[in-house]
Formats: sequence, C-alpha cells, structure tokens
Amino acid sequence: MAGGDSGGGDVVFSRPFRAPGELENLDRVLRSDHSHGDGVFTASATARLREITGAGHVLLTTSCTHALEMASMLLDLGPGDEVVLPTFTFPSAATAIVTRGATPVFADIDPRTGNVDPESVAEAVTERTRAISVMHYGGVAADLDALEAIARPRGIPIIEDNAHGLGGVSGGRRLGTEGAFGAQSFHDTKNVHCGEGGALLINDERYVARAEIIREKGTDRSRFLRGAVDKYSWQDAGSSYLPSELNAAVLDAQLAAFDEIQRRRRAVWDAYAAGLADWAGEHGVDTMSAAPGLEHSAHLYYLLLPEHEDQQALIAHLKARGVRAAFHYIPLDSAPAGLRYGRRVRPLDRAARFHDRLVRLPLWAGMTDAEVERVLDGVRSFRPR
Ligand SMILES: *Cc1c(COP(=O)(O)O)cnc(C)c1O
Repeated sequence: MAGGDSGGGDVVFSRPFRAPGELENLDRVLRSDHSHGDGVFTASATARLREITGAGHVLLTTSCTHALEMASMLLDLGPGDEVVLPTFTFPSAATAIVTRGATPVFADIDPRTGNVDPESVAEAVTERTRAISVMHYGGVAADLDALEAIARPRGIPIIEDNAHGLGGVSGGRRLGTEGAFGAQSFHDTKNVHCGEGGALLINDERYVARAEIIREKGTDRSRFLRGAVDKYSWQDAGSSYLPSELNAAVLDAQLAAFDEIQRRRRAVWDAYAAGLADWAGEHGVDTMSAAPGLEHSAHLYYLLLPEHEDQQALIAHLKARGVRAAFHYIPLDSAPAGLRYGRRVRPLDRAARFHDRLVRLPLWAGMTDAEVERVLDGVRSFRPR
C-alpha cells in the first residue's frame, strides 16, 4: 500500500501493475530486428521464472490456457481418456481436456479453501483417468500430499494450474513444481502480467524435449537455435505457443519487480484480514485463510457470506459506495459446456454453495491506504440478514 489520496473515482476491482523499465524494454525490442519469440527478453524472463519458482524447466507461452493445452498434448490425451479436475476453476482447465477429445470429470471442493477435495477426486478416478488437474485457489496450496497419494500408486501425473499461485509455498515446496507440469498465467488480472501470457513449468525430464517441439509448431527449431542441429524440420504435432519478444519484454520488467508486487499485495491482504476479523466473527462470515506453513501469493481476498442473498446484497452495498467487488467461478459442472462435455460422480453441492456465498474484494499492488480504508469501511457498514 502507499500513502496519498485515492481520488474521487471508484475503487476498481483490479488494476494491472506498471513495472519500472517496461517502456525501455519495449523500446529496445522495437528498435531491434528481433520481435518474434525466443530472443533476449524471453531468455531473461525465463531465467527469472526459474529463480522464482525453482522449476528446472520453464517455457514461456502465449497464455496459461496454452500451457495447459501443451500439458494435454504431452500426455497424449485423446477420446476415451478422462481427467479429474475441480469444478470450481477457470474454464481453461476443461477446454485443455476437451480440445483433445478427452472427458473432464468434475470433483467437489473443500469449503475451507475452495481447493479440490482429495476425497472427491478419489471418488472420480476410474481406470480411464489419465491425469489429475489441480488449481491453487487464490494462491493457497491445494492438498498436494493427499492428491499425490491418489495419483502416485496409479502412475497418474498431476497438472498444477498455478495461475493464482506464483511464488506460493506449501510445506517448503513451491507451487507449480510438484506436479509433472505447472501452468502460469500472465494475463493482466494476475499478480504479474504482460497483457496476455503464460508459462509451462516442466518438472519431469521426460517431457522437456517434446515440449520444446510442440511449442515451436512441431519443429526442432529450439534445438537448431542452440546449435544442436544444423537445420530444423517438422518433428511432431504442435502449435505456435511462444510469445513475441514484445510480451516477454514487459514480462521481464514485471518479474524484476516481483518482490515489490508481492509485498504490496500482501500488505492489502493483511489489512483486510486484520480489519475484518471482528466484523466477520460477529456476523457469521467466513474469511479467506491459509493454514500454518503455507505461504500464499495474495492473489485475491474473499469473504463467504452466510447466504446467497447476503452475497448479492454486499456486492450491491459496496457498489453504492464506489467499491467494486466480485463473485467468482460458476462451477464448471453446471455450465453449458460442462453439461455437454463433462461428467461428475454426484451433485457437487459444496462448490455450488461456495460460489453462491463468495465475494472477492479489490486487491492490486497499487492500492492506496485510503482505498483500502474505503473497502474496509464499506464492508464493516454491511449487516448480513
Ligand atoms: C486466469 C486463469 C487461467 C487462464 O489464464 P490465461 O493466461 O488467460 O489463459 C487459467 N486458470 C486459472 C485458475 C486462471 O485464474
């Protein structure tokens, strides 16, 4: 948070961070003869991501959605295959499965975190299950130990959609590096962004060589650029998943400012947690929390109101006070495409109720103290029915 006046306008829900050095980096790319992918800024941003995540292999992509699609291709998913995933997540986790002709099987959540419930996952696993896809909601780690206990004996890989969790840690393990794959997003609603962008973290050596080929239109151009082969050619299926140097230039500047971004976001998160604890306790409101030993990424802050009418009323109450709050994911199993393409073992009531009760408060790295106070005052002046 910073001091100063928030001005007269609304407190917006999210505002993309502007990192020092972005314009200089862009200028360098535009003045060079190299703005296609895999230039100096891609190399630099990739090195920074390896440092932040601890992942051995990182490939920048055009989006998190594309990183998830790459994981599906690397696992050779196809018709008849199933992937178990949380119903409470972003649609990309499911589109990455259905674009391969495979079937998403939806699991319910743990209402304490919004993360997938391992027991529900165990119930959804069949002999056709080829992967378990997990998302760390708000950057609070899902129960990876319990999920690994399900996956490992069956030889099923885990895909971590870590769009929320860059920099998050659970029991000393960094998010995005526990599954075979981790997928990051650099969409401009995320902690670190370049407009649109992403990355695939590869934590299993076996997939590295083929991932490079899939990302580069099915060619071994990456090997060629390293001088390992003297010409490149079509090797495999693939697509164009590499971002231009323009995106990488912005991303590199953002990643250089990662510690500052995270410090500022955590200050807002901590101010909400401290400022709303008493009010929440008095009114039967549950607040976002992270278990001990768990370092979350301060990607979002949410409240769970007692009932759906309270959720709607709080969003309207805040809007009337110039504060933009938001609900979140419509569970995939009940969405039109989820009904068409997916399967579930039983009604997923906990996710439905989580969706109905949840309100996310504004959270971004540039929020002023005055803006945070406006949010706190707005929430504390609300009484659930
Ligand atoms: C934002 C987001 C995505 C999609 O990211 P893109 O980079 O826009 O493709 C996927 N999963 C989750 C959990 C997200 O929050």
